[in-house]
Amino acid sequence: MEIIYQKAGLRRVINASGRMTALGVSTIHDETGKTMVEAAQNYVVIDELIDRVGELLCPFTGADGTCVTANTSAAICLSIAAVMTGSNLDLVEKIPDTTGLKNQVIIQKGHCVNYGAPVTQMIRTVGAIPVEVGCANKVDKANIIGAINDKTAALMYVKSHHCVQKGMVSLEDMIKIAHGHDLPLIVDASAEEDLKKYIAMGADLVCYSGAKAIEGPTSGFICGRKDLTDAAKLHYKGIGRSMKIGKESMMGLLKAVEIYTGRDMAAHEAQLNATVDQMIQALTGLPHIQVGKSWDEAGRNISRCRVDVESSCPLTALEIVAALKDGDPAIYTRDHFANVGTIFFDPRPILPGDVEAIAEKMKKILEG
Ligand SMILES: *Cc1c(COP(=O)(O)O)cnc(C)c1O
Repeated sequence: MEIIYQKAGLRRVINASGRMTALGVSTIHDETGKTMVEAAQNYVVIDELIDRVGELLCPFTGADGTCVTANTSAAICLSIAAVMTGSNLDLVEKIPDTTGLKNQVIIQKGHCVNYGAPVTQMIRTVGAIPVEVGCANKVDKANIIGAINDKTAALMYVKSHHCVQKGMVSLEDMIKIAHGHDLPLIVDASAEEDLKKYIAMGADLVCYSGAKAIEGPTSGFICGRKDLTDAAKLHYKGIGRSMKIGKESMMGLLKAVEIYTGRDMAAHEAQLNATVDQMIQALTGLPHIQVGKSWDEAGRNISRCRVDVESSCPLTALEIVAALKDGDPAIYTRDHFANVGTIFFDPRPILPGDVEAIAEKMKKILEG
C-alpha cells in the first residue's frame, strides 16, 4: 500500500533500528492521533493548557511538578535555564545572558554524548557553561566534588545507551554529592522507559522524550521539583518561545502517556520477544551469518535479533548495513557494533510485513 510519504515521492523505510530521530522516532497509536486532530481543531488558553497537562502528568511520574516541552533537547535547555534564574521574570528575559548568575553545569566526560546533536550544546544554548569532568572512560567522585564551586548551578546525569557504560560515577552518588552541596541534579532520561524511577531516587528534575519509549508525538517533558518546573514554564516568556510546543502535541503527549502506562507491559514485552524470535527464524540458515538473541546494553528489558557476520563472508557487516540502507524499501538496522561484525535488528519499530522484507533482502545480499 502506498502511504503518504511514498505519494510524496519518498522511499519506504523499514526501521529495525530503534527510536531514531533520523527515521521519525516512533509511530503513534490511533487514539493519540484522534486526540491530536480534535485538539488541533479547537482553541484553548495556552497557559492554562500548559499548567493542566503538567498537573495531569504528575501522577505518572510521582513528581510534584511537570513542564511540557517540544522535545527532550528543549527539556534540557529549560531545566538548566530554570535552575539558573528561578522564577524571576527579569532574569528569564535576559537568558542567554547569565551575567552574575551561577551558570556552571557539571557533567561527566563519558556523558558528553552526541545523540544527533551534542548534549553540551543544549547546556550552552541557555547561556550555561558545561564543565566536563574526569576522562571519557573514567570519572571519580573526587572529580565531581573538585569541580563544584560558587558558580555551580547544577549537576547533570545522562542515562543513555549513548554514554560510556563503565567507569562513571553512579546516579546515586551524583544525587548524594549534589544534595550534599545544596545543588539540584538534572537527569536526561530521554529514551528511558521507567517514568518513576529517577524521581523516586531523588533527582530534582528529569527530562523525558514524549516520542521515544512513550510513542507519542514529537514532544517531551520535565518532571520534578515544582519550584523548578514552574521556573521552566516561565521560560516560555523568554528563550523557550523558540522551543514552543503546540496544543495538539500537548494533548497527544498526555494521551500517549495514558496509553503507555495503561498497557500490559508483560504482554507487550512478550509480543516484542515473539517478533525477535520471528526475525531469528527468518534469518537462520542464511549463509555467512550466525543468528541469535541479545539483551539491551543499557539494561532495559528489550531483546533484539543479533546477527554476527562470519569471517567467510565476502561482505563486511558495515557493507551489509550499507546495502540494506541503499534499497527501496530502505532497511535501517541498529548498527553501533557493525564495525566489529555484529548487526542488531530491533523489534520495537517493526511494522507488519517488515520481517519478511528484511529476510528477503538479507537473502539477496548474502547469497549474492
Ligand atoms: C534522543 C535523546 C535526546 C534528544 O531528544 P529529543 O526529544 O530528540 O530532543 C537527548 N538525550 C538523549 C540521551 C537522547 O537519547
